[in-house]
Amino acid sequence: MEEVKKVKKPRGIAHLIPGKCIACGARCQSDCPEDAIEMNDKGEPIITAVKCIGCKRCVKICPAQALEMYFTPEEQKILDTMTDKAPEEAEVVEPGLKEYRGVWIFIEHTEGKPATVSWELLGEGAKLAKTLNVELCSVVIGENVEHLCQESFSYGASKVYLIDAPVFHHYRTETFFRGICYLVEKYKPEILLMGATGMGRDLAGAVATKLQTGLTADCTGLDIDEKGYLLQTRPAFGGNIMATIMTEKTRPQMSTVRPHVMELAKKDPSRIGAIVRESIDIREEELPTRVIEVIEDASGDQLDLAGAEIIVSGGRGMCGMENFSILQELADELGGSVGCSRAAVEAGWMPPERQVGQTGKTVRPKIYIACGISGAIQHLVGMQSSDLIIAINQDRNAPIFEVATYGIVGDVFQIVPAMTERIRELKSKKGGSPKNGSSNNGPSGKE
Ligand SMILES: Cc1cc2nc3c(=O)[nH]c(=O)nc-3n(C[C@H](O)[C@H](O)[C@H](O)COP(=O)(O)OP(=O)(O)OC[C@H]3O[C@@H](n4cnc5c(N)ncnc54)[C@H](O)[C@@H]3O)c2cc1C
Repeated sequence: MEEVKKVKKPRGIAHLIPGKCIACGARCQSDCPEDAIEMNDKGEPIITAVKCIGCKRCVKICPAQALEMYFTPEEQKILDTMTDKAPEEAEVVEPGLKEYRGVWIFIEHTEGKPATVSWELLGEGAKLAKTLNVELCSVVIGENVEHLCQESFSYGASKVYLIDAPVFHHYRTETFFRGICYLVEKYKPEILLMGATGMGRDLAGAVATKLQTGLTADCTGLDIDEKGYLLQTRPAFGGNIMATIMTEKTRPQMSTVRPHVMELAKKDPSRIGAIVRESIDIREEELPTRVIEVIEDASGDQLDLAGAEIIVSGGRGMCGMENFSILQELADELGGSVGCSRAAVEAGWMPPERQVGQTGKTVRPKIYIACGISGAIQHLVGMQSSDLIIAINQDRNAPIFEVATYGIVGDVFQIVPAMTERIRELKSKKGGSPKNGSSNNGPSGKE
């Protein structure tokens, strides 16, 4: 076997470009996996060089491009020689893995109706494919699902692997995992992503087991390192740390990502691509399961918290179930939904489907209003990608303020009703109807 000499690429140290920080609310600090960042009185980061591992997370998350990587002259020299060399010389690649190429996204659907998470993953997959300089492809399996190929193209895929046959009409682990494994073994993608939904979790585990490859579930961040490996970041140890996991020795590198974690890809219906039609011989009689009937869950709360554009969320600071009505009033005025922290669920004030966070829903609304929520990491991982975060808390040191766009230090029982009142006033001045939004069900799910 040919021996490849390892050349360690310097990672550098994050450093602040003077005058560029906009004091966004310590996003860099909350994203640092090593606690290497403290904030000064002006809300600017102070980086402890000895703690920085050069992961670049702070550089990437900074909305003002105020952080960059610093390399010593020696490190810069190594970097320069590495970029001069051919990638094969500079990188260590496991033999046999090089033939795996391309980023694949599994397109989840129910009887042809796609799950939005698939398009979010195409958006993320496009970034990975661009970095790796490889193709972005979709995998569509079902019956009469060819329309999902064109939709895949419009969300960025350049190729779709399609298996369309009656045996795939309903999702079953056995049929779908055999379909995907067949395609993977034949076409060898290096990365395979699925939604962390009921279907995706079931399927990804089966596929990874059959292919004897690594799978990282519920990723909140994906990136490519300098060797071309997929960096899969997810909360670990009860959400107390963010772990970055790599699949170094097997392919494909598999991850699942929850809905609303990644940004939805931009749709361009004019995009076109290639369809690779495949078939696999699976006979109904050899399958251990049959779908007799599909019964929709009509009992549950019809709430789509994860898809809500505005969420007013309450925590232990709401002090009781009855007080959530003030959040509902505000949500109604804004056309939003009411969410909560786990503390509120555990207290029996709110149903579990309203919980936001690591063990609840991941949300990405345009506005998230956190009322009486401290901002524990397990809550933050479920809402910190919201476009705009307003936090109301009487404790000025509450961690929620570190991710908030606007922080209000004060009593929720004074501030929330005042906000509702003010919105009503503004609406009546404009002559609008007091309830112009389509609010989701109330906390009890009964409205
Ligand atoms: C494995 C694991 C998974 C978890 N998953 C989740 C999850 O998915 N989601 C989640 O939320 N948590 C989760 N948790 C729990 C999490 O660690 C916290 O315990 C929880 O988020 C705290 O909820 P809270 O902020 O409502 O309560 P607290 O931390 O008690 O905060 C209450 C806040 O209200 C403020 N306050 C009190 N009264 C008022 C007032 N009148 N006006 C204004 N502010 C006021 C206080 O200053 C305080 O900051 C998880 C924990 C573990 C170990």
